[in-house]
Amino acid sequence: MTQINHHLDDALLMGYSAGTLPEAFNLVVASHISMCDECRARLGAFDAVGGAVLEEAGSVTMEMAAADLLDSVGPEKVRPVVSKPTSSIYPQVLMDYIGPDPDQVKWSKLGMGVRQAILKTSSSASVRLLHIPAGCEMPDHGHHGTELTLVLQGAFRDERDRFARGDIEIATEDDHHKPVADESGPCICLAATDAPLHFSGFVQRIAQKWARI
Ligand code: ZN
Ligand code: ZN
Repeated sequence: MTQINHHLDDALLMGYSAGTLPEAFNLVVASHISMCDECRARLGAFDAVGGAVLEEAGSVTMEMAAADLLDSVGPEKVRPVVSKPTSSIYPQVLMDYIGPDPDQVKWSKLGMGVRQAILKTSSSASVRLLHIPAGCEMPDHGHHGTELTLVLQGAFRDERDRFARGDIEIATEDDHHKPVADESGPCICLAATDAPLHFSGFVQRIAQKWARI
């Protein structure tokens, strides 16, 4: 069992439970939950509370509840299938996006050996796989919205801590960081963003235009 040190916060689990997160974030949350017993149990509690609230609400707030439900249905809702362990580094819920053969992931080059594969989701947020070579420094950047990163292989370190397989890093507008992959091997991450990242360097800002980060 993977030792996971960094987990989802309550807001993300609640949003996931209520079906209010963008599809890109649902995918990262579902991937983490399929790797993490602790967050799966916490999600179960949120699901139970959500159901109980609906039952207790009675007819007075049924209209509101119905409106919430309407908000939550549709393509945004991705719930994890009970996780069958896969032999690859990709959880099953992610395999549904990348296809049956992980070797067929359509990587494109980002420079400095970094590769990315953007996964197709609804447009309210974007999610991509990132392949960062051992020891590689990602550009220093801030965030206009929320960036949710799940490590699938290897590890990276930034100003805050070290993140290894299964770990989640939540970066917000207050965070500015410069992730560096461990020297021991390449780091593969799944990262969702709800707004373009803000890079510090001019060259990166130009690169950003074509990389669609
Ligand atoms: Zn967790
Ligand atoms: Zn970041």
